Amino acid sequence: MSDAVPDALVPYGWDDRVAALFSYEASPEANPGRVTRVDRDRVTVVTSCGEHRSARGDPLPSIGDWVAVTEGGPDGELLVTSVLTRRSVLGRRGRGKSPDGQVMASNVDLVFVVVGVDRVVLNRVERELVAAWDSGATPVVVLTKVDLADDPVEIATEVSARSQGVDVIVTSAVTGQGIDDVVSLPQPNRTVVLLGASGVGKSTLANALLGEDALATGPVREQDHRGRHTTTARSMVTLPQGGVLIDTPGIRSLGLLEFEEGLSLAFPDVEELASGCRFRDCTHRTEPGCAVRDAVVTGELDPDRLRSYEKLQRELAHADRVGDPLAIRAEMRKWRAIRKSVRQMPNKKR
Ligand code: GDP
Ligand code: ZN
Repeated sequence: MSDAVPDALVPYGWDDRVAALFSYEASPEANPGRVTRVDRDRVTVVTSCGEHRSARGDPLPSIGDWVAVTEGGPDGELLVTSVLTRRSVLGRRGRGKSPDGQVMASNVDLVFVVVGVDRVVLNRVERELVAAWDSGATPVVVLTKVDLADDPVEIATEVSARSQGVDVIVTSAVTGQGIDDVVSLPQPNRTVVLLGASGVGKSTLANALLGEDALATGPVREQDHRGRHTTTARSMVTLPQGGVLIDTPGIRSLGLLEFEEGLSLAFPDVEELASGCRFRDCTHRTEPGCAVRDAVVTGELDPDRLRSYEKLQRELAHADRVGDPLAIRAEMRKWRAIRKSVRQMPNKKR
């Protein structure tokens, strides 16, 4: 590896701050790099001489980490010897077996919380905003597809009211409204993440951010330790106007959010009732002022339905705890099918 000043890292956000951190925290023989991808057994690190599959040490680096690498990985590849102190950490809160949570991305500056006007789930927006604030990054809400809304002002007002002072940018990829405002936000040294349910328009925004460079999202060619080239999907790209975009399926959904959304999709009636509970995190078991239990008492809510809701909650919580997005999705598919069949049954109560 070369000892040259890592100019090649500047587009990835290398600056005086990172340089100082590196000289302070890394051993003198190590070289700096930034993690652009994390796989099960390897990480991809961009260094002053390109992207390399590298062996990972402990702690496991996450995408966005600044790291120190040396020669001498077990297979002759590069070895990540240390992870530099993170400026921000976007992750899932720790629960169950992994109280430390799971780091999804590091050193993120800006989180775009992307919401489609055609399907606003306010709880989800709130969750994503909390995750963004928790991370140490600054969130911005991007309301997409306003061309589809009958009353975009009303929706924007509603979303703003729940976003507590966070900027809301109203956009349409069809008319071009607001796209320039989004594109102007990433700047050199800023790392951006897109959060939001699938189908809300994240890829469309990513393409707008990439502009003419949209091809850069294509597969990346990497060298393995024998100099052979392999191709993998990109997870981190540099933006033409400066800055870096991190975009991976895992980060997009934050796992946990699928879980929340799954519940409200399958049980909109229970979720609606739950919004009337005195406590926001009401478990509908013993809390006073529980609107859900009240509804069971008055006969408005079928107790069987509450039991099903609790069952799904448990199953999703389990899938979420083991961090298995496929299991979460499988659960949701199953329950959506059940919901459809419930809808087709004649409703006794109404
Ligand atoms: P992602 O799953 O979040 O990456 O969403 P995509 O970017 O793939 O967009 C999902 C769908 O919404 C695609 O069919 C897009 O063409 C469409 N879409 C994205 N933005 C807009 C918009 O501003 N207006 C309209 N009408 N459709 C949009
Ligand atoms: Zn309750």
